Amino acid sequence: MSDITVIGSNMIDLMTYLDRMPVEGETVSAPEFEMGFGGKGANQAVAASRLGSDVSFISMVGHDNFGKEQLDNFKKSGIDTTGIGVGDCNSGVAPIFVDPSSDNRIIVIKGANNELTPEVLDEYEDKIKNSKLVVLQQEIPLETNYHAIDLAVKNNVPVLLNPAPANKDLNMEYVSKVEFFSPNETELATLTGLPTNNLDEIKVAANALIEKGVGNVIVTIGSKGVLWVNKEHSEIVPGKKVAAVDTTGAGDSFIGSFAHYFTEGESVPEALRDANQYAAVTVTRKGTQKSYPTKAELDEILK
Ligand code: ADP
Repeated sequence: MSDITVIGSNMIDLMTYLDRMPVEGETVSAPEFEMGFGGKGANQAVAASRLGSDVSFISMVGHDNFGKEQLDNFKKSGIDTTGIGVGDCNSGVAPIFVDPSSDNRIIVIKGANNELTPEVLDEYEDKIKNSKLVVLQQEIPLETNYHAIDLAVKNNVPVLLNPAPANKDLNMEYVSKVEFFSPNETELATLTGLPTNNLDEIKVAANALIEKGVGNVIVTIGSKGVLWVNKEHSEIVPGKKVAAVDTTGAGDSFIGSFAHYFTEGESVPEALRDANQYAAVTVTRKGTQKSYPTKAELDEILK
């Protein structure tokens, strides 16, 4: 039995650092290239696992070397990989091009992540049933997320849905069934069709989702922390002040660590405070998963 079942994507980030972006038809050589483990589902699973949760990850890797490397990485991070299948195509990859001004261009090829279908989930109903929380994002087919929500609700397991990347087609009927819905400001605007340019507007948009039946809306607002809203309550849980060097993957570290702290028994505001702290540490370090500390590293940093 795992505390947390994460259902979602894994990707290999192919980071190319350029002196300048090539123009159409041009070939340039780049001074630096780096490969990194990514994908929103994978990032969230790794964060929760590094903090000490028993995490089961349901995902699909490709039938290539990247797939093997992903599996190795999950095992090293202590994740239960028995829910990870090998698909019929290549692994999900994200070629990322970054110039010296940090301007970036990103292409996402979902690959095997598209093979995580509702039928695949049926094989793992027991994992869902026996966990304290199911965590979802949106880099796999929407129908798979809908089925995951149905299976979790049927088995009385709460769901945390992080609607990233934003998708206007998300069916609000399913959103109303989740216990925790955690968009950032941009995703909240896309989903509600309302402006989210300041805190007052964010509150109005979050409350519109509460009216639709969502249990708790947790809007991440970068260095400002989060806005937490439910039927009875509305509160800003402030972010920690740090010197940020790289905010890539901050949202995922927040979701994964919130899942950890909440399933460990903390109240929602305690778990939000600790997840803000965890995410703040990750933005002081370069990279995505490699910026996520283990529990021991975190304790050392906060000493
Ligand atoms: P996303 O990466 O999905 O856009 P946010 O930028 O809202 O998500 O960041 C998610 C969480 O990470 C925030 O709620 C906060 O806890 C933390 N965070 C992000 N940026 C900073 C920062 N500059 N300083 C401190 N914490 C940060």
